[in-house]
Amino acid sequence: MNQATISIPFAIGENLWHAAPDPDAQWEVCDTCFGTLKVTMVLGNGEKHVLNCAACRLGYGQPSGRIQTHRYRYTPKEFIPTNVSMSGDEFHYSRDESGQFAYATTLTRDRAECQVMCDEMNAKHAAEEHGRCVANRTSKRRDMVWAVGYWRGQLRKAEADVARLREHLGIVIEHKKSKP
Ligand SMILES: [Zn+2]
Repeated sequence: MNQATISIPFAIGENLWHAAPDPDAQWEVCDTCFGTLKVTMVLGNGEKHVLNCAACRLGYGQPSGRIQTHRYRYTPKEFIPTNVSMSGDEFHYSRDESGQFAYATTLTRDRAECQVMCDEMNAKHAAEEHGRCVANRTSKRRDMVWAVGYWRGQLRKAEADVARLREHLGIVIEHKKSKP
């Protein structure tokens, strides 16, 4: 009977550090409304419009006051594996109680070393994310300006309609009055 021995990079139950995605660090206070959820737009004629902030709105919902500045953000997290598995030449470790999962390549015994791994991964995504963030904010701010222009136009049109209808009604009333 043939037997093969594979050595695993870390032991079960060992105290490790994981360069882990951190969902909390992916969000920051909205830099358009600064968390107030409202934006005041002042037009050239001094007319003010208070709008729901579109920059921190998710989909078509209400503004949240926070924006996702990073899709990827890694911070060192303590990791004590309870399971190890192998697929191809990669080792995966997991923790029963939390369901957390880590590739061996993102684990280390040293916290400082883990921080370096996190910094490298964060830097790798930073430039691309900055561009995405700016483009996203610019487009959402443009939407707000567009919305004010659009709704002002609709209001002017409605006011013109009301004036026209009043005038029309006035004529009808005049007609009734003039009848014997
Ligand atoms: Zn906002």
